[in-house]
Amino acid sequence: MTLDQSWFSEAVEATGTAFSLKGHKLHEERTPYQKIEIWQTETFGYLMTIDGCTMVSTRDNFLYHEMMSHVVLNSHPNPQNVVIVGGGDCGTLSEVLKHPEVKAATQVEIDERVTRLAEQYFPELCTRNADPRATLFFGDGIQWMKDAEPGSIDVIIIDSTDPVGPAEGLFGKRFYLDCIKALKPDGLLVQQSESPLLHLDLIRDMHAAMREAGFARTHLFHFPQVIYPSGWWSGSIASKIAVPLAERLDDLAIQAMDTRFYNGGTHRAAFALPGYVLSALPGSDQSRQPADQGAACRTG
Ligand code: SAM
Repeated sequence: MTLDQSWFSEAVEATGTAFSLKGHKLHEERTPYQKIEIWQTETFGYLMTIDGCTMVSTRDNFLYHEMMSHVVLNSHPNPQNVVIVGGGDCGTLSEVLKHPEVKAATQVEIDERVTRLAEQYFPELCTRNADPRATLFFGDGIQWMKDAEPGSIDVIIIDSTDPVGPAEGLFGKRFYLDCIKALKPDGLLVQQSESPLLHLDLIRDMHAAMREAGFARTHLFHFPQVIYPSGWWSGSIASKIAVPLAERLDDLAIQAMDTRFYNGGTHRAAFALPGYVLSALPGSDQSRQPADQGAACRTG
């Protein structure tokens, strides 16, 4: 082992868990919003962390970016206007822009330094930033949504940090009320909803807040994400109207998007939930049968 060998470790007191990667720190800076670090790791390429939490790695980011974009977009009948709140590493934006039906994709990221560092260390995530359909807006997503034109958005993707610091206000009824107002009648919202193993109470509270804000249905889906606590992550989709999610799973269209994890099978499987998770979601009737997306966690 050479002298400069070290390890990145994220120890989470609340869950009594830790995740480590062998490597060394290349860059660190404190912005008005958070502390950003870049690590060169031995086996996961570059790693970006924010306030000590893993955000994105070269090796496994595709798991998250594909599942946080294609599942919701292929669950909407015609997602033309998409807004991403957070997502400063531009990976979600890049996946969204693979959909030809998307006419406009706006990324609302509070901290421009995240994007500038992503351009330097994760250029493969930024290849579509110059797409004429893309708008990179730097500002608070909470205020942006308050000011959004009512009934103008098809899909909102909340790709934020954990519910602390600048992201705390993105998890709650107040923000969801502004999202509902900004969404079109058949609009969908998806939000990264942490780990079904470690954060089930948070997921339950998120779904309850979404429904209290007026969303008719909530749907949980899950996927692997190695660098996040427990390695098992989730997304929560909220729909304004109580109709089954669309299922646009044309094989040729999916193949054209050149994805590595996402396909029709992983899309459907992602909605198949373990019994203990179903039991924890009040009003849940998201079917125990895999791929039955018609059912969902209904209001009331
Ligand atoms: N995939 C990561 C995860 O699940 O933790 C998130 C990646 S992305 C880097 C998270 C981004 O959310 C950060 O760049 C952070 O600056 C941004 N963010 C946090 N709060 C925000 C807010 N209120 N408005 C806009 N962006 C915000």
